[in-house]
Amino acid sequence: MSTASGSEFAHEAGSWLQENVPRRWREHRGTLDEHEAIDIRRQWDRQLYEAGYSGLSLPKEFGGQGLGLAEEVAFSELAAQAQAPDGLARIGRILTAPTLIAHGTEQQRERFLPPILQGRETWCQGFSEPGAGSDLAGVSCRADKVDGGYEITGRKIWTSFAAYSDRCLMLARTSQDAPRHKNLSMFLLDMNQPGVDIGTIKQISGGTHFAEVHFDRVFVSDDELIAEEGSGWRVAMTTLMNERGGVEAASRYVEMRADMDLLLAMCGDDPRRADVLADLDRRTELVRWQISKAVHLEADETEFVRATSILKVLWSELWQEITTVGLRFSSAAHREHWRYQYLESRSASIFSGTSEIQRNIISERVLGLPR
Ligand SMILES: Cc1cc2nc3c(=O)[nH]c(=O)nc-3n(C[C@H](O)[C@H](O)[C@H](O)COP(=O)(O)OP(=O)(O)OC[C@H]3O[C@@H](n4cnc5c(N)ncnc54)[C@H](O)[C@@H]3O)c2cc1C
Repeated sequence: MSTASGSEFAHEAGSWLQENVPRRWREHRGTLDEHEAIDIRRQWDRQLYEAGYSGLSLPKEFGGQGLGLAEEVAFSELAAQAQAPDGLARIGRILTAPTLIAHGTEQQRERFLPPILQGRETWCQGFSEPGAGSDLAGVSCRADKVDGGYEITGRKIWTSFAAYSDRCLMLARTSQDAPRHKNLSMFLLDMNQPGVDIGTIKQISGGTHFAEVHFDRVFVSDDELIAEEGSGWRVAMTTLMNERGGVEAASRYVEMRADMDLLLAMCGDDPRRADVLADLDRRTELVRWQISKAVHLEADETEFVRATSILKVLWSELWQEITTVGLRFSSAAHREHWRYQYLESRSASIFSGTSEIQRNIISERVLGLPR
């Protein structure tokens, strides 16, 4: 995955991570109370910025480091290996920032990019609704035109980090009459105002990282509309392309590799399990190969979308298989670990586009099958 300069970068980043990952997080992450965990994650965003590891692949002119996706993916893998916290500014950095660079005004970039990169403002993604997930064009949250801006009314669901967010990248319907895909607009909504009501949702694993959010006539100014009214679908496609990229897969690969190593150690040389383990082990390394393939295709948007759809199906379904086998073969000593990983991995084939949706993309755009 690395070039000569890439290995230099990896060496420096690896040393920095070893020295700076908070020991409290590394040793107690599973038992920290929620407030302490959030504080550590916020602080980590600031540390990343100060050390020059925030916005690695964003252009220098926009406050990034001007490196490539390869370095971003390498850093994500190293951070997972070093058991670094997952910063809270992640949605802002991975989704909002590239969306603003592609479609925002100069004024919007100046206002929003620095606090995202510095970890001073946290973002959530307001796309999914009770009646619109895979079929995102079915969004029904309304944005009604008023003097100087819009009023947003409706409901979003599965909104990760909503309770900790300052801003929401909000997809809403600006016209009831315009044709589908031309009736949506994207907003940069301030979450700290009257009319925003956040109800956290408890996940099957016990976590509470996402929420259902009600918006009751919440104001967004004209300056907080990205691109022109009615272009929300086009803007959302940029956001989703970044969401399905290799960065998420790289950190998941490390988690899967660690689970796979634990599984191999647990089962020893048991010949009855050798075939199953060899198959899972081989496919784990196939995920790594597919990550590096996606990185090399970054410049070609069509090929990149194909590669990342394949990657998403590969890693999410394989992780579920590994945790299923882990739970089945686990001894009492490891049962809690495997139970948690098993439950956490269920969501992997849903978020960032379900496996069925990825397979639709693969069948149409890779295999050329009819719709
Ligand atoms: C952990 C987690 C975090 C999330 N975070 C966020 C977030 O921060 N912001 C946000 O906006 N959303 C978030 N989501 C929501 C996620 O994007 C949606 O759950 C996902 O897009 C699926 O939509 P849905 O739940 O409405 O299911 P549906 O779209 O209703 O799908 C139900 C089932 O039907 C299948 N299906 C639907 N359409 C088709 C089709 N055309 N062909 C074949 N099968 C189909 C699906 O694959 C699925 O199995 C998160 C989800 C999870 C699990």
